Amino acid sequence: MITPACRRLVALCALGTTLGALAACGSPQQTPTPRTASSSPASAAPGHPSAPLSHAPAAPSRPPTLAPGPAGLTPVFRNAPRAPGKTVALTFDADMTADQGGRAAAGEHFDNPGLIAALRTLKVPATVFMTGRWAEEYPDQARSIGRDSLFEIANHSYSHFAFTDDCYGLPTVPEDRMREDVERAYTALHKAGVPEPMPYFRFPGGCYDRRALRAVSGTGVTAVQWDVVSGDAFATDADAVAQQVLQGVKPGSVVVMHCTRSAAPTTEQVVRTVVPELRRQGYRFVKVSELIGTANARH
Ligand SMILES: [Zn+2]
Repeated sequence: MITPACRRLVALCALGTTLGALAACGSPQQTPTPRTASSSPASAAPGHPSAPLSHAPAAPSRPPTLAPGPAGLTPVFRNAPRAPGKTVALTFDADMTADQGGRAAAGEHFDNPGLIAALRTLKVPATVFMTGRWAEEYPDQARSIGRDSLFEIANHSYSHFAFTDDCYGLPTVPEDRMREDVERAYTALHKAGVPEPMPYFRFPGGCYDRRALRAVSGTGVTAVQWDVVSGDAFATDADAVAQQVLQGVKPGSVVVMHCTRSAAPTTEQVVRTVVPELRRQGYRFVKVSELIGTANARH
């Protein structure tokens, strides 16, 4: 699905790579046929990327992952089975590119503490897909989010370069550096003080292909996409974004939003609108790990 907001985003991204930094909407540009949770999830797979199996914690505390796909490809999770129960996962991408440090130093806000505070006030569990570069820029916030059991932090690459050749104008990670990029992001998260980043990886822009799935397979991550595009990137009308979320959410949905004030300024307001409404409809907010665990339990 490409929404009007996404078309605008794609157009913006075509103007330059810095605007492309927040590209995370619409369908993947090149979609192979990986296994998805709704079609063929499997039991827990090994490999917390930051914790080798020999040092892994006891099984009950290991985050659920999907088993590798055919030929060992990185599995892809998009949404949980639609029933039973009305659960939904809000996810927030903390985008930042390697070359945006100067802009941050000049006062541009790539963080969104008001959004995180709102999630805490509303008691909404959430998953933050954080770039390593963001964690380097905002280590106190990364640590605070990472140590709060309300949240889980997952990997959104080191600096938001694309893992396919054609992804909203984003600069590209060479194939032989893809695994290293994922690992570099985990290193940055740990260095910032995030104790247990999750073994989940969101491709920048949601762009992946078989080559990318193969390249990062050694890290043990489950790739996490989404089935609901909020359209918060570069949006100025919070009500329109909220409506798009409310219209898109189904039981088991994963909603993609952003944790970046400068390029997604309405997100806090959107959350304050959609959370009470979805709760009124009977939805319960969960983290991505719970959805993946649910998907595994049903097979
Ligand atoms: Zn992103």
